Amino acid sequence: MIISMKLHSTREEIEQVCERIGDFGYKIHAIEGEERVVIGAVGVGDVAACLDSIEAMPQVEKAVRISAPYKFVSREFRPEKSQIRVDGRDIGGDEFIVMAGPCSVESEKQIMQAAEGVAKAGATLLRGGAFKPRTSPYDFQGLETEGLKLLAKAKRATGLGVITEVMSDRDVDLVAEYADVLQIGARNMQNFALLKALGKCARAVLLKRGMSSTIKELLMSAEYIVAHGNPNVILCERGIRTFETHTRNTCDIVAVPALNELTHLPVILDPSHATGRRSLIPALSRAAVAIGADGLLVEVHPAPEKAISDGAQSLDLHQFRKMMSDLRPYIELWKQARVTETAAAV
Ligand code: PEP
Ligand code: MN
Repeated sequence: MIISMKLHSTREEIEQVCERIGDFGYKIHAIEGEERVVIGAVGVGDVAACLDSIEAMPQVEKAVRISAPYKFVSREFRPEKSQIRVDGRDIGGDEFIVMAGPCSVESEKQIMQAAEGVAKAGATLLRGGAFKPRTSPYDFQGLETEGLKLLAKAKRATGLGVITEVMSDRDVDLVAEYADVLQIGARNMQNFALLKALGKCARAVLLKRGMSSTIKELLMSAEYIVAHGNPNVILCERGIRTFETHTRNTCDIVAVPALNELTHLPVILDPSHATGRRSLIPALSRAAVAIGADGLLVEVHPAPEKAISDGAQSLDLHQFRKMMSDLRPYIELWKQARVTETAAAV
């Protein structure tokens, strides 16, 4: 249930409404806004009676039921798109955001070269895994804290914000010390202990779709983070597992506009894990722009042939520069569409 208070309602009036909601057995989950306060309530009870009673209160403008099982992340809750501020830039706003860098942080030289190269080509954030979820226990698991420190050094050198993966609830505070955005990998999309810990974290979270997860499950996982206190969630389509073997995963391209209908959260696309093949990345990135994604998460390595992980799907710096420049006219059209959409929503 979402209750919008009348403009400039007093603290006392808000408390009265909260009390009435409580009388019906519902729990207040969030109170947002200053001039116009919006109250979110969840729980099980007689929703129709509660809505009638609340709407009859003079200080209440409107009370509506949210039918989606994911409440706070739904478009019903917030019809306009959310913008998430990261290191001085807005994700979900009128800038197409490109997060780029290697799959894993491997060495100081590698991450510095990658960071400088992607910054020059126009990336907004530097990606690089310090904690790596690997299918085999014998594969490189990441440089961990040392990798985080190298990312921080690359940030100081280039001014790029940093996005990196956190795999365990125990590491959230550590990773949040170094990263601007915490990435939750496909394999951890339903790690509920981790999702709850992220709810208590002050950093933005990029939540990747699990490889066998539905759109609804992705939204329910995002709801965990928001319901536990952190509204700054970005969603990422990175391909799902199907019978197709030519590509590493099958990019569910329609998930992007579908998510844009269902949620106000920003949605980005990862063409690297979605394809597993560098030759397909520029075309899929153009598609991401065309369907209204808010940005890209791309793997870029200064020497992909030597990469410890995901070399076959990593662009080199030259290929990344070319892709960024080829994307420019598409991004111009994207910007025009964004302005029209925003104007229509007002
Ligand atoms: C990655 O971004 O390097 C990664 C491990 O991605 P995913 O969780 O989508 O497999
Ligand atoms: Mn990878």
